[in-house]
Amino acid sequence: MDQVHHILTIDFESWILSEKIRKEKLTNSELLYLDDKFTPESLSVIIEILKKHNQKITFFVCFKLEELYPGIIEKITKNGHEVGWHGYSHIPLTNTNILKSELNMSQKYLKKYNIKGFQAPGIIFFKRGYKVLKKYDFSYSSSTYGQPQKTTKIDGIIEIPVSTTKEVDNKDAFQNTRMDLSSLLRFGLPFGSSFFWSLLGEKNYHQKLVRAYGKGIPINLFVHNWQIISAWSKSKKFIPDEKESFFKNPLYFPYKKNVAGMFEYLLSRHKFTRMIDFATKHK
Ligand SMILES: [Zn+2]
Repeated sequence: MDQVHHILTIDFESWILSEKIRKEKLTNSELLYLDDKFTPESLSVIIEILKKHNQKITFFVCFKLEELYPGIIEKITKNGHEVGWHGYSHIPLTNTNILKSELNMSQKYLKKYNIKGFQAPGIIFFKRGYKVLKKYDFSYSSSTYGQPQKTTKIDGIIEIPVSTTKEVDNKDAFQNTRMDLSSLLRFGLPFGSSFFWSLLGEKNYHQKLVRAYGKGIPINLFVHNWQIISAWSKSKKFIPDEKESFFKNPLYFPYKKNVAGMFEYLLSRHKFTRMIDFATKHK
């Protein structure tokens, strides 16, 4: 039997792509001012951590960041990691028009770097989108919750679910895009999302990974760069969502805690794989 590899990906983004900033329709130089080099600095730190633990993984990048800081994609791939697409501006991809517009703005880089992987912002996607991904030459997506070993092929795209605690049928898992009570009861906790990292803690995740490994089951996790390196703001008007007060933004409460320690804890105890390598084996 082939050795099992868990998957840990980075959703590589910046708070300047959040909804409240998007609404302001700022120019690139205004966006660069707000970002204040968080993007390249967080990338450098994460690449060094991965080097230290001898891990090659996948970064799902918002491609607007490549436009703002040309060279970040190359920096990731030159270090042996994979770059996948996490949308252009991190707007929710809820229909074909939005998806095509985001793809067209990213097209130049998608071709240049031969991008094959996709993770939908917020893990919110729609079924007809897979046909569009195929046209743009993607080969896999990780935009549902479920069991990563149960990959499915939708319109030629391999769909690799983000891990949940309960075993579910993949067709059902596709509908599990909202974390309401009924879907939690039905599908279990979508702990593959780093929303739960600070809530459950490193020992819980470590045990989950050990147990799954023992059973020969892969686990698929993602975490954001801004959970590992906390973002900052020199603006008086805007701050990152996770820095807002609890009452203004209660859903961001689990994101207030930096999880850099947990990131290293898991990297030092488990071997992770790039998602493209996983996808190739599960075609
Ligand atoms: Zn995201």
